[in-house]
Amino acid sequence: MTDDKTLYMVVPCYNEEEVLHETAKRLKEKYISLRQRGLISEESRVVFVNDGSRDKTWSIIQELHTAAPTFFSGINLARNSGHQNAVLAGLTTVKDICSMAITMDADLQDDINAIDAMVEKYHEGNQVVYGVRSARKTDTFFKRFTAEGFYKFMKVMGADVVYNHADFRLMSRRVLQELANYREVNLFLRGLVPLIGFQSCNVYYERAERFAGESKYPLKKMLAFAINGITSFSTKPLKLITSVGFIMSVISIIMIIWALVVKIAGHSEYGWSSTMCAIWFIGGLQLLALGIIGEYIGKIYAEVKQRPRFIVADFINEEK
Ligand code: UDP
Ligand code: MG
Repeated sequence: MTDDKTLYMVVPCYNEEEVLHETAKRLKEKYISLRQRGLISEESRVVFVNDGSRDKTWSIIQELHTAAPTFFSGINLARNSGHQNAVLAGLTTVKDICSMAITMDADLQDDINAIDAMVEKYHEGNQVVYGVRSARKTDTFFKRFTAEGFYKFMKVMGADVVYNHADFRLMSRRVLQELANYREVNLFLRGLVPLIGFQSCNVYYERAERFAGESKYPLKKMLAFAINGITSFSTKPLKLITSVGFIMSVISIIMIIWALVVKIAGHSEYGWSSTMCAIWFIGGLQLLALGIIGEYIGKIYAEVKQRPRFIVADFINEEK
Protein backbone atom coordinates (compact mmCIF):
# COMPACT_ATOMS: atom_id res chain seq x y z
CA MET A 1 0.00 0.00 0.00
CA THR A 2 1.71 3.15 -1.17
CA ASP A 3 -1.04 5.76 -1.25
CA ASP A 4 -3.47 7.08 1.32
CA LYS A 5 -6.54 6.08 -0.63
CA THR A 6 -6.99 2.40 0.06
CA LEU A 7 -10.38 1.90 1.69
CA TYR A 8 -11.32 -1.38 3.29
CA MET A 9 -14.93 -1.84 4.34
CA VAL A 10 -15.47 -4.32 7.17
CA VAL A 11 -18.93 -5.84 7.13
CA PRO A 12 -19.85 -8.35 9.89
CA CYS A 13 -22.38 -10.95 8.75
CA TYR A 14 -24.33 -13.35 10.91
CA ASN A 15 -26.98 -15.34 9.05
CA GLU A 16 -27.33 -12.64 6.41
CA GLU A 17 -27.97 -14.76 3.27
CA GLU A 18 -31.10 -12.77 2.48
CA VAL A 19 -29.37 -9.39 2.26
CA LEU A 20 -25.84 -10.18 1.18
CA HIS A 21 -26.35 -10.04 -2.59
CA GLU A 22 -28.09 -6.67 -2.38
CA THR A 23 -25.48 -5.26 0.02
CA ALA A 24 -22.68 -6.45 -2.27
CA LYS A 25 -24.35 -4.97 -5.34
CA ARG A 26 -24.80 -1.56 -3.73
CA LEU A 27 -21.30 -1.50 -2.28
CA LYS A 28 -19.82 -2.40 -5.64
CA GLU A 29 -21.65 0.50 -7.30
CA LYS A 30 -20.41 2.80 -4.57
CA TYR A 31 -16.81 1.59 -5.00
CA ILE A 32 -16.96 2.10 -8.76
CA SER A 33 -18.12 5.69 -8.33
CA LEU A 34 -15.57 6.42 -5.57
CA ARG A 35 -12.79 5.01 -7.75
CA GLN A 36 -13.89 7.07 -10.73
CA ARG A 37 -13.81 10.22 -8.63
CA GLY A 38 -10.31 9.37 -7.47
CA LEU A 39 -11.31 9.22 -3.79
CA ILE A 40 -10.25 5.60 -3.27
CA SER A 41 -7.63 3.39 -4.90
CA GLU A 42 -8.02 0.29 -7.04
CA GLU A 43 -6.65 -1.78 -4.13
CA SER A 44 -9.71 -0.94 -2.02
CA ARG A 45 -11.86 -3.88 -0.96
CA VAL A 46 -15.03 -4.84 0.86
CA VAL A 47 -14.31 -7.50 3.49
CA PHE A 48 -17.25 -9.56 4.63
CA VAL A 49 -16.64 -11.19 8.01
CA ASN A 50 -18.69 -14.33 8.43
CA ASP A 51 -19.40 -14.60 12.15
CA GLY A 52 -20.12 -18.32 12.36
CA SER A 53 -23.36 -18.16 10.38
CA ARG A 54 -25.51 -21.26 10.18
CA ASP A 55 -26.99 -20.40 6.79
CA LYS A 56 -25.36 -19.93 3.37
CA THR A 57 -23.63 -16.66 4.26
CA TRP A 58 -20.08 -18.00 3.86
CA SER A 59 -20.67 -19.70 0.52
CA ILE A 60 -22.24 -16.47 -0.77
CA ILE A 61 -19.14 -14.55 0.37
CA GLN A 62 -16.93 -17.07 -1.44
CA GLU A 63 -19.01 -16.70 -4.61
CA LEU A 64 -18.79 -12.90 -4.41
CA HIS A 65 -15.02 -13.10 -4.08
CA THR A 66 -14.66 -15.49 -7.03
CA ALA A 67 -16.88 -13.35 -9.24
CA ALA A 68 -15.25 -10.02 -8.35
CA PRO A 69 -11.96 -10.49 -6.50
CA THR A 70 -10.99 -6.85 -6.99
CA PHE A 71 -14.03 -5.80 -4.97
CA PHE A 72 -14.85 -8.49 -2.40
CA SER A 73 -12.81 -10.38 0.17
CA GLY A 74 -13.93 -12.60 3.02
CA ILE A 75 -12.95 -13.64 6.52
CA ASN A 76 -14.50 -16.75 8.02
CA LEU A 77 -14.55 -16.92 11.81
CA ALA A 78 -14.35 -20.37 13.35
CA ARG A 79 -17.52 -19.80 15.34
CA ASN A 80 -20.02 -17.11 16.27
CA SER A 81 -18.07 -14.57 18.32
CA GLY A 82 -20.55 -11.71 18.41
CA HIS A 83 -20.83 -8.52 16.42
CA GLN A 84 -18.11 -6.54 18.26
CA ASN A 85 -15.56 -9.32 17.95
CA ALA A 86 -16.42 -9.89 14.30
CA VAL A 87 -15.81 -6.20 13.61
CA LEU A 88 -12.50 -6.33 15.49
CA ALA A 89 -11.44 -9.45 13.59
CA GLY A 90 -11.99 -7.58 10.33
CA LEU A 91 -10.20 -4.44 11.49
CA THR A 92 -7.23 -6.38 12.86
CA THR A 93 -6.90 -8.27 9.60
CA VAL A 94 -6.89 -5.16 7.41
CA LYS A 95 -5.00 -2.74 9.65
CA ASP A 96 -1.69 -3.13 7.79
CA ILE A 97 -3.04 -3.20 4.26
CA CYS A 98 -5.45 -0.26 4.26
CA SER A 99 -5.15 3.49 4.69
CA MET A 100 -8.67 3.74 6.13
CA ALA A 101 -11.36 1.29 7.16
CA ILE A 102 -15.12 1.74 7.46
CA THR A 103 -17.21 -0.68 9.52
CA MET A 104 -20.80 -1.12 8.48
CA ASP A 105 -23.67 -3.53 9.20
CA ALA A 106 -24.62 -5.98 6.48
CA ASP A 107 -28.35 -5.28 6.65
CA LEU A 108 -28.25 -1.92 4.80
CA GLN A 109 -29.54 0.01 7.81
CA ASP A 110 -26.47 2.20 7.57
CA ASP A 111 -26.65 4.58 4.62
CA ILE A 112 -24.13 3.60 1.95
CA ASN A 113 -24.30 7.14 0.57
CA ALA A 114 -22.71 8.43 3.77
CA ILE A 115 -19.48 6.70 2.73
CA ASP A 116 -18.62 9.53 0.30
CA ALA A 117 -18.79 12.12 3.06
CA MET A 118 -16.76 9.89 5.40
CA VAL A 119 -13.98 9.46 2.86
CA GLU A 120 -13.99 13.19 2.08
CA LYS A 121 -13.71 13.99 5.80
CA TYR A 122 -10.79 11.57 6.00
CA HIS A 123 -9.02 13.36 3.16
CA GLU A 124 -9.63 16.64 5.03
CA GLY A 125 -7.49 15.26 7.85
CA ASN A 126 -9.89 13.48 10.19
CA GLN A 127 -8.65 10.21 11.66
CA VAL A 128 -12.04 9.06 12.91
CA VAL A 129 -15.40 9.82 11.30
CA TYR A 130 -18.50 8.79 13.26
CA GLY A 131 -21.70 7.98 11.43
CA VAL A 132 -24.48 9.51 13.53
CA ARG A 133 -28.18 8.82 13.03
CA SER A 134 -30.08 12.01 12.42
CA ALA A 135 -33.48 10.34 12.58
CA ARG A 136 -35.01 7.09 13.69
CA LYS A 137 -38.22 7.38 11.76
CA THR A 138 -38.13 3.83 10.51
CA ASP A 139 -37.45 2.18 13.86
CA THR A 140 -40.42 0.97 15.83
CA PHE A 141 -41.33 3.06 18.88
CA PHE A 142 -40.02 0.29 21.10
CA LYS A 143 -36.64 0.05 19.36
CA ARG A 144 -36.27 3.82 19.34
CA PHE A 145 -37.21 4.13 22.99
CA THR A 146 -34.86 1.37 24.13
CA ALA A 147 -32.01 2.50 21.87
CA GLU A 148 -32.18 6.18 22.89
CA GLY A 149 -32.59 5.16 26.51
CA PHE A 150 -29.44 3.10 26.02
CA TYR A 151 -27.32 6.15 25.12
CA LYS A 152 -28.76 8.25 27.96
CA PHE A 153 -28.29 5.48 30.51
CA MET A 154 -24.71 4.93 29.36
CA LYS A 155 -23.97 8.61 29.90
CA VAL A 156 -25.54 8.67 33.38
CA MET A 157 -23.50 5.62 34.35
CA GLY A 158 -20.30 7.30 33.26
CA ALA A 159 -19.50 5.59 29.95
CA ASP A 160 -18.96 8.28 27.34
CA VAL A 161 -20.30 7.35 23.92
CA VAL A 162 -21.17 9.44 20.87
CA TYR A 163 -24.95 9.93 21.03
CA ASN A 164 -26.85 7.93 18.42
CA HIS A 165 -23.69 6.54 16.90
CA ALA A 166 -23.53 2.78 16.47
CA ASP A 167 -20.65 1.07 14.71
CA PHE A 168 -20.82 2.81 11.36
CA ARG A 169 -17.52 4.68 11.38
CA LEU A 170 -14.34 5.36 9.49
CA MET A 171 -10.97 4.91 11.16
CA SER A 172 -7.58 5.71 9.69
CA ARG A 173 -4.76 3.20 9.59
CA ARG A 174 -3.09 5.17 12.37
CA VAL A 175 -6.11 4.75 14.66
CA LEU A 176 -6.35 1.04 13.81
CA GLN A 177 -2.73 0.58 14.86
CA GLU A 178 -3.51 2.19 18.21
CA LEU A 179 -6.73 0.22 18.63
CA ALA A 180 -4.65 -2.95 18.42
CA ASN A 181 -2.95 -1.90 21.68
CA TYR A 182 -6.22 -2.15 23.60
CA ARG A 183 -6.19 -5.75 24.68
CA GLU A 184 -9.45 -6.01 26.56
CA VAL A 185 -11.66 -9.01 26.01
CA ASN A 186 -15.01 -7.38 26.88
CA LEU A 187 -15.10 -5.34 23.73
CA PHE A 188 -17.21 -2.20 23.46
CA LEU A 189 -15.89 -0.37 20.42
CA ARG A 190 -18.23 2.58 20.79
CA GLY A 191 -16.61 3.46 24.08
CA LEU A 192 -13.09 2.55 23.04
CA VAL A 193 -12.68 4.55 19.83
CA PRO A 194 -13.35 7.96 21.48
CA LEU A 195 -10.72 7.04 24.10
CA ILE A 196 -8.06 6.72 21.40
CA GLY A 197 -8.44 10.38 20.48
CA PHE A 198 -7.14 12.11 17.31
CA GLN A 199 -9.08 14.55 15.17
CA SER A 200 -12.60 13.30 14.58
CA CYS A 201 -15.92 14.51 13.23
CA ASN A 202 -19.47 13.33 12.62
CA VAL A 203 -21.34 12.53 9.46
CA TYR A 204 -25.13 12.45 9.75
CA TYR A 205 -27.35 9.92 8.03
CA GLU A 206 -30.85 8.55 8.23
CA ARG A 207 -31.09 5.02 9.51
CA ALA A 208 -33.09 2.84 7.17
CA GLU A 209 -35.10 -0.25 7.90
CA ARG A 210 -33.40 -3.62 7.80
CA PHE A 211 -33.42 -4.68 4.12
CA ALA A 212 -34.40 -8.30 4.85
CA GLY A 213 -34.11 -10.88 7.59
CA GLU A 214 -34.52 -10.09 11.25
CA SER A 215 -32.52 -8.27 13.90
CA LYS A 216 -29.82 -10.27 15.63
CA TYR A 217 -30.01 -7.83 18.53
CA PRO A 218 -33.16 -8.61 20.47
CA LEU A 219 -33.82 -6.72 23.72
CA LYS A 220 -32.04 -9.36 25.78
CA LYS A 221 -28.81 -9.01 23.80
CA MET A 222 -29.15 -5.23 23.81
CA LEU A 223 -29.42 -5.16 27.61
CA ALA A 224 -26.41 -7.44 27.94
CA PHE A 225 -24.56 -5.12 25.55
CA ALA A 226 -25.47 -2.03 27.62
CA ILE A 227 -24.38 -3.70 30.85
CA ASN A 228 -21.13 -4.76 29.22
CA GLY A 229 -20.59 -1.19 27.99
CA ILE A 230 -21.16 0.30 31.42
CA THR A 231 -19.09 -2.22 33.35
CA SER A 232 -16.27 -2.03 30.80
CA PHE A 233 -16.00 1.74 30.90
CA SER A 234 -17.08 2.93 34.27
CA THR A 235 -16.72 2.06 37.92
CA LYS A 236 -19.64 4.32 38.74
CA PRO A 237 -21.85 1.40 39.88
CA LEU A 238 -19.18 0.54 42.47
CA LYS A 239 -19.02 4.17 43.59
CA LEU A 240 -22.81 4.15 43.97
CA ILE A 241 -22.47 1.43 46.61
CA THR A 242 -20.06 3.62 48.57
CA SER A 243 -22.52 6.53 48.44
CA VAL A 244 -25.44 4.36 49.54
CA GLY A 245 -23.30 2.90 52.33
CA PHE A 246 -22.40 6.37 53.51
CA ILE A 247 -26.02 7.51 53.50
CA MET A 248 -27.06 4.33 55.34
CA SER A 249 -24.39 4.94 57.98
CA VAL A 250 -25.66 8.47 58.60
CA ILE A 251 -29.24 7.19 58.83
CA SER A 252 -28.11 4.46 61.19
CA ILE A 253 -26.62 7.00 63.60
CA ILE A 254 -29.91 8.92 63.58
CA MET A 255 -31.86 5.68 64.13
CA ILE A 256 -29.58 4.64 67.00
CA ILE A 257 -30.07 8.01 68.72
CA TRP A 258 -33.83 7.67 68.20
CA ALA A 259 -33.89 4.12 69.58
CA LEU A 260 -31.95 5.27 72.65
CA VAL A 261 -34.28 8.23 73.20
CA VAL A 262 -37.31 5.93 73.03
CA LYS A 263 -35.65 3.53 75.47
CA ILE A 264 -34.71 6.27 77.94
CA ALA A 265 -38.25 7.66 77.74
CA GLY A 266 -39.34 4.15 78.75
CA HIS A 267 -41.65 3.51 75.78
CA SER A 268 -39.77 0.58 74.27
CA GLU A 269 -40.32 -3.15 74.49
CA TYR A 270 -37.52 -5.20 76.01
CA GLY A 271 -34.84 -5.93 73.39
CA TRP A 272 -36.27 -3.55 70.77
CA SER A 273 -33.61 -0.85 71.05
CA SER A 274 -30.64 -3.19 70.85
CA THR A 275 -32.15 -5.00 67.85
CA MET A 276 -32.86 -1.73 66.04
CA CYS A 277 -29.37 -0.40 66.70
CA ALA A 278 -27.75 -3.61 65.52
CA ILE A 279 -29.76 -3.83 62.27
CA TRP A 280 -29.06 -0.25 61.22
CA PHE A 281 -25.47 -0.16 62.34
CA ILE A 282 -24.50 -3.46 60.71
CA GLY A 283 -26.43 -2.60 57.53
CA GLY A 284 -24.66 0.73 57.13
CA LEU A 285 -21.28 -0.71 57.97
CA GLN A 286 -21.61 -3.59 55.54
CA LEU A 287 -22.55 -1.39 52.61
CA LEU A 288 -19.75 1.01 53.37
CA ALA A 289 -17.27 -1.85 53.58
CA LEU A 290 -18.54 -3.28 50.30
CA GLY A 291 -18.14 0.12 48.72
CA ILE A 292 -14.53 0.39 49.88
CA ILE A 293 -13.78 -3.09 48.55
CA GLY A 294 -15.51 -2.00 45.35
CA GLU A 295 -13.19 0.97 44.98
CA TYR A 296 -10.20 -1.36 45.08
CA ILE A 297 -11.79 -3.83 42.70
CA GLY A 298 -12.38 -0.89 40.37
CA LYS A 299 -8.67 -0.12 40.49
CA ILE A 300 -7.68 -3.76 39.91
CA TYR A 301 -10.10 -3.82 37.00
CA ALA A 302 -8.51 -0.78 35.43
CA GLU A 303 -5.04 -2.28 35.92
CA VAL A 304 -5.77 -5.69 34.40
CA LYS A 305 -7.11 -4.06 31.26
CA GLN A 306 -3.66 -2.61 30.63
CA ARG A 307 -5.00 0.12 28.43
CA PRO A 308 -2.42 2.45 26.90
CA ARG A 309 -2.02 5.42 29.24
CA PHE A 310 -1.34 7.85 26.43
CA ILE A 311 -0.93 7.94 22.69
CA VAL A 312 1.57 10.30 21.10
CA ALA A 313 0.07 11.86 17.99
CA ASP A 314 3.10 13.92 16.91
CA PHE A 315 6.66 14.46 18.09
CA ILE A 316 8.42 17.56 16.81
CA ASN A 317 12.09 17.51 17.56
CA GLU A 318 15.14 18.89 15.89
CA GLU A 319 18.06 16.50 16.06
CA LYS A 320 21.60 17.77 15.68
N1 UDP B 1 -23.89 -9.64 13.71
C1 UDP B 1 -22.74 -10.42 13.85
N2 UDP B 1 -22.69 -11.35 14.85
C2 UDP B 1 -23.71 -11.51 15.77
C3 UDP B 1 -24.86 -10.68 15.64
C4 UDP B 1 -24.90 -9.75 14.60
O1 UDP B 1 -21.80 -10.31 13.07
O2 UDP B 1 -23.60 -12.36 16.65
C5 UDP B 1 -23.94 -8.63 12.61
C6 UDP B 1 -25.17 -8.69 11.74
O3 UDP B 1 -25.01 -9.60 10.68
C7 UDP B 1 -25.28 -7.26 11.25
C8 UDP B 1 -24.74 -6.45 12.41
O4 UDP B 1 -23.98 -7.36 13.20
O5 UDP B 1 -24.47 -7.02 10.12
C9 UDP B 1 -25.82 -5.80 13.24
O6 UDP B 1 -26.79 -6.74 13.65
P1 UDP B 1 -28.36 -6.46 13.54
O7 UDP B 1 -28.66 -5.72 12.29
O8 UDP B 1 -29.08 -7.74 13.73
O9 UDP B 1 -28.62 -5.51 14.80
P2 UDP B 1 -29.64 -4.26 14.90
O10 UDP B 1 -29.35 -3.38 13.72
O11 UDP B 1 -30.99 -4.81 14.87
O12 UDP B 1 -29.29 -3.58 16.21
MG1 MG C 1 -29.43 -3.95 11.86
